Parts: sequence; C-alpha cells; structure tokens
Amino acid sequence: MGKVPYVELVDGKVQGVVSSGSDIARVYVSWVSFTDGEHLFGCSTNNNRPCGGAAGNHLCKHLDSLLAEAVTMYGYDRVARYLKIESPNPDTHLRFSLTAPCIAGSRSASSIFSRFLRYLTYLEQPVATAPVPELHWFPTVGVK
Ligand SMILES: [Zn+2]
Repeated sequence: MGKVPYVELVDGKVQGVVSSGSDIARVYVSWVSFTDGEHLFGCSTNNNRPCGGAAGNHLCKHLDSLLAEAVTMYGYDRVARYLKIESPNPDTHLRFSLTAPCIAGSRSASSIFSRFLRYLTYLEQPVATAPVPELHWFPTVGVK
C-alpha cells in the first residue's frame, strides 16, 4: 500500500488517508478545506488522536503528502480551483499557495476513515471484469 492509499475531493475538502512514516499499523486521516474565506485543515489518527505536527498554522508531513498525492491524481489546477486558491503557483508545493488564513480545524476524522474502509472492502471482492465506478480515484500503480 502506498504512502497515500486514499485521497479524494469531496464535500469541498481534499481528504484522505496517509500511512504513518514510522508505524505501518497506523494511518492518519488528513483533510484541507476552504470554508468562509479560510483554509482549514486537520490531521488525526484513525483512533481520532490529533496529529502533533498539525497545529496552529502549521501543516504536518501527512498533509504535505496528501496535497502532493491529490495534485498527482487530479492535477494541480483542479486541486487549486477546488481549494479556491487565488494565485496558484504550480512550481511550488501546493501548501505554499494556501494564502487564506490557514488554521487547524476541529472535525472528527471518523467519517473520512469509514469511507476509506468501505472502499477497502471492494478490494476483497472477487476479481470482476467490469470497472467499479466508485473506485475511479484509486491509484492503479502498485496495486496487485
Ligand atoms: Zn499529521
């Protein structure tokens, strides 16, 4: 499983699941949104423990990875538009274009994580010949 096994643009948020760098059994649920003129973000473990790296106006490495993967999957322009970034600069990491006040929001990660688990159940289905429409977001590289 990749470092960012799951990322999607939904409900005005870039959200997904990021593997822990140090503990393969742990994942982080990370999200960034644009709400009322502010970029909000959050990061916590699947057990809803807040990530120590995401606080104040500081984005942790999981959010870095999430945004980078979103750009890889959806393209820089689309992600920048989705987050209503005013002056995007594709030459730099997307995080540097988050010009609005960037603050840690409080939001339960459980709904994002349960979506992830539901997608995972598709992977345990017998191999089907028809594509599963809901899995369009899933990276095919490296999946066996
Ligand atoms: Zn984090």
